[in-house]
Amino acid sequence: MENTNTTSVKVGELEFPPRKVWMKTYGCQMNYHDSERIMSHLSGLNFTKTEEQSEADLVIFNTCAVRDLANQKFYSHLGETKKLKTNPEVDPETGLKKNVIVAAGGCIAQTEGKDLISKYKQLDFAFGTDVVDNIGEMVYRAYAGEKKFAVTSWDRSDNYSIETKITHGSPMAFVNIIKGCDKFCSYCIVPFTRGREKSRRLDEVVKDVRRLVEFSGVQEVMLLGQNVNSYGKDNGESLAQLIMELEKINGLERLRYTTSHPYDVTDDLVDAHRNAKKLANHLHLPVQSGSNTVLQRMLREYTIEHYLDLIKKMRTANPEMIISTDIIAGFPNETEEEHEATMKLLDDAQFDFIYAYSFSARKGTKAARMNDVLNDDIRGRRLREIQEKQLKIQANIRQGMIGKTYRVLVEEKGLSKGVTKWTGRTSCYRLVHFEPETPESDYQWHWVDVEIISATALSTQGKIIRDLGKLT
Ligand code: SAM
Ligand code: SF4
Repeated sequence: MENTNTTSVKVGELEFPPRKVWMKTYGCQMNYHDSERIMSHLSGLNFTKTEEQSEADLVIFNTCAVRDLANQKFYSHLGETKKLKTNPEVDPETGLKKNVIVAAGGCIAQTEGKDLISKYKQLDFAFGTDVVDNIGEMVYRAYAGEKKFAVTSWDRSDNYSIETKITHGSPMAFVNIIKGCDKFCSYCIVPFTRGREKSRRLDEVVKDVRRLVEFSGVQEVMLLGQNVNSYGKDNGESLAQLIMELEKINGLERLRYTTSHPYDVTDDLVDAHRNAKKLANHLHLPVQSGSNTVLQRMLREYTIEHYLDLIKKMRTANPEMIISTDIIAGFPNETEEEHEATMKLLDDAQFDFIYAYSFSARKGTKAARMNDVLNDDIRGRRLREIQEKQLKIQANIRQGMIGKTYRVLVEEKGLSKGVTKWTGRTSCYRLVHFEPETPESDYQWHWVDVEIISATALSTQGKIIRDLGKLT
């Protein structure tokens, strides 16, 4: 978005002229949701977004600590910002060298904020996951001349109350309903970076979504949390109740939620999938492993039999339902037999897609303290085997889509081998590409019906049957 505003705003003792912020978000949807909040708060301080780091007055990294790869990417990107301080760009407006502020937030900053500040000279401040809504105050402090600070405190209040902030013009919105995680799976850093579970009250979420639908043109909502199935436990409410209330909102077309923990999926939730017509035909239900002994060492609290029974119940409640999952390859001391159990699970569960990762030891977790005999080669090989097998299963499942018509919310267009194609998602979260009826046709945020004409494991092509427009 181009900042055409030339007027300063006065906040406290300081003038805030129009400035630009460049932000890089790593990791899960929760981080993207937080970045939206950050952007919204910063617009109150006269910031607009830029995609060019060289144009920025403020550079923010919203970090992820879940796997080592995301950590390494952040450290390398942060390293590159040294030049912003040692050899700053000249501001075209003032002709002066820019005084760029560099900040790091999110999961790495939560646990390592103070260390980052002392280790990286170019870093002005760090902030944790629970103080995202205080970003305006921190930016103010930085512009007021305060140097090198880290804010990593936890919100100790009993209730969790927010209003969803969106700055994009899209009809799809993330709505956070629960923060934190109490599960402490043995491999996972999230309970340490996001703190304890706390749910928003059901009536607050319903009001929030109604407002988004009525005043911001939102039509599809993704309810977010590290473990959304725990939603409401602290207040005597539940995810199933929330879904049934949101279902009543006129103008809301589709509802999704992520991420679910199999232990907390209740019969009421299965019923919601049977009864709530707006609830998407898709459930992302991370299983992590197909072996009961590995699940035990992961402290996942369910067996594979329980998991398979759950997805059977879901598919009975809604025969259109597709299931996706997360898998960790090479958990410490995983035997070939345990790995084979995961390979077998792929056959048994028939997932529509999976996110598979190689185990990454996270400091402070129980799994990182296990004496582990596996090496990177074994992990890499097992990960490849899982991915290759899944691709075959997936290609097969998606052949079954050919000839069927799906309702798609169109997101964007792109070029594929020189041909313009529009892309959107079905209710079951599959990406579908289709060619426009005329080169000028503009389908962005339209609802269209698309008949699938070909499908591979990773891509689905269709032809447009009906354009229903924007459904405002
Ligand atoms: N709350 C969700 C659940 O219970 O499954 C998952 C949240 S986690 C941020 C997303 C995924 O990252 C997990 O499902 C898991 O597969 C993966 N993950 C988490 N810790 C990991 C680790 N130490 N090594 C590899 N993958 C990991
Ligand atoms: Fe991590 Fe387990 Fe919590 Fe998911 S449920 S965020 S995997 S600790």
